[in-house]
Amino acid sequence: MKTPAETAPNRAAAATGDGVPFRVAVVGAGPSGCYTAQALRKAQPDIEIAVLDSLPTPFGLVRYGIAPDHQGAKAVSRQFERVFAQPGVEFVGNVSVGTDVGVESLLDSFHAVVLATGLGADRRLGIEQDPDARVIGAGELIRLLNSDPEARLRHRPGGLDSLGAEVVVLGTGNVAVDVARLLSKSDLDFIASDVDDDALRAVAPNPVRTIHILGRCPSHLAKWDPSMVKELAHVVGVQVRVDGTSLLDESAVSPRTTVNVRFQQVPAFIRRHGGRIRVTTHHAGDSGRVEHLDADTVVTALGFDSPAEQTAWSGGIEAPNVFRVGGPATGRLGNLAENRKLAADTARDVLAFLRGREQRHRAGLAGLRGLLPASAVDIAAWRRIDDAEIRRARPDRCRTKFTTRDELLAAAAGSDTLASIPLATTRPSTTQEK
Ligand SMILES: Cc1cc2nc3c(=O)[nH]c(=O)nc-3n(C[C@H](O)[C@H](O)[C@H](O)COP(=O)(O)OP(=O)(O)OC[C@H]3O[C@@H](n4cnc5c(N)ncnc54)[C@H](O)[C@@H]3O)c2cc1C
Repeated sequence: MKTPAETAPNRAAAATGDGVPFRVAVVGAGPSGCYTAQALRKAQPDIEIAVLDSLPTPFGLVRYGIAPDHQGAKAVSRQFERVFAQPGVEFVGNVSVGTDVGVESLLDSFHAVVLATGLGADRRLGIEQDPDARVIGAGELIRLLNSDPEARLRHRPGGLDSLGAEVVVLGTGNVAVDVARLLSKSDLDFIASDVDDDALRAVAPNPVRTIHILGRCPSHLAKWDPSMVKELAHVVGVQVRVDGTSLLDESAVSPRTTVNVRFQQVPAFIRRHGGRIRVTTHHAGDSGRVEHLDADTVVTALGFDSPAEQTAWSGGIEAPNVFRVGGPATGRLGNLAENRKLAADTARDVLAFLRGREQRHRAGLAGLRGLLPASAVDIAAWRRIDDAEIRRARPDRCRTKFTTRDELLAAAAGSDTLASIPLATTRPSTTQEK
């Protein structure tokens, strides 16, 4: 496969005021990077943009974060596809900046560099915690259910274990509700999703029986959207109780899954206890009353941070032509709408910088020739992956993603054998009528 630098069209340089075409590298093809490219092109249609991503696939957490049963939110990728359909906007996947290509090389070849690398790690709990206690980050869990090849790799060779029948989720944001919903749904509830059936069957062979969502804050300060909790409460077979009171009138049913939401619970420590896990909390508003809750797994949904390796290469880079957008700028992952706004502001700053001083010629993507790995993925190769995943989907799934980098790269290269990789088996359909 040719690298994007080799296939980059040798089109005539689009002239700006002084005849030098503006060339911008965006690091990260998630929503922040894609929205930035979109806004740059809208304001300056002749600007040339290369969007690099360490994964072979574009769209960041749209693909690997947004819940697989929320295809409406994932559909934002269609608008990003249109950005890459424009001549002069290139996707360069499977290239890790800081490892495969240094920022210095980008600065040599582009007039400006935008760091849109998101916040790729779950924020840690920061309390005393038994290292052997089963604790997993919500972002990591949902990456697994979204077939993220890196998350899959981190869980080998031990593989994925069942989370058990009783799970504690720490946090009261939308991601906590995503976790509760995904773990409480039956197979039928995943129709038309792109859930990773193998991962789901491994972590929750049956819908989890009891989920405790614990928040430090009082109920009126919960960060989740009420519509998310309402959606959870309407999953057939699920009963949501907030501080002991059922959200819907459930008197006649015996629920398959009970979700107990409790506020003002401040976790103090997590220990192993009798083969299970004990979460000890104190009550924030009631003279510190101490409580113990035993469960099989704790899922932390406390926000996101930069992974250490990310901070190592990008943290200290300060130059007038290096810009940050999304998580690296704000310290918050944010949602799509927030990141779209931030991207528009960043694009304005980039253009003000570029127009505000004389620019000398930069080679753009062609300047990276020889630096990019042979396995770099361009947008045409991504479309081959996309097409193969849709073709191999189970009839009741909208796609079945490849789960390893090798499979993705083989599909990118157009290998047809992958389309026939055996399909995942299903979980039991234990849907109950409400
Ligand atoms: C579980 C979950 C559910 C969500 N659901 C919703 C929802 O329903 N609605 C909503 O509006 N928002 C939702 N969000 C938030 C949404 O996903 C984020 O707002 C958005 O993805 C942030 O975009 P980003 O581009 O800043 O970061 P990301 O999407 O993380 O993209 C960053 C990209 O940078 C790449 N990258 C990182 N380091 C490098 C490097 N060194 N070199 C090259 N590339 C690199 C990564 O591979 C990644 O593709 C959800 C988030 C999560 C975690």
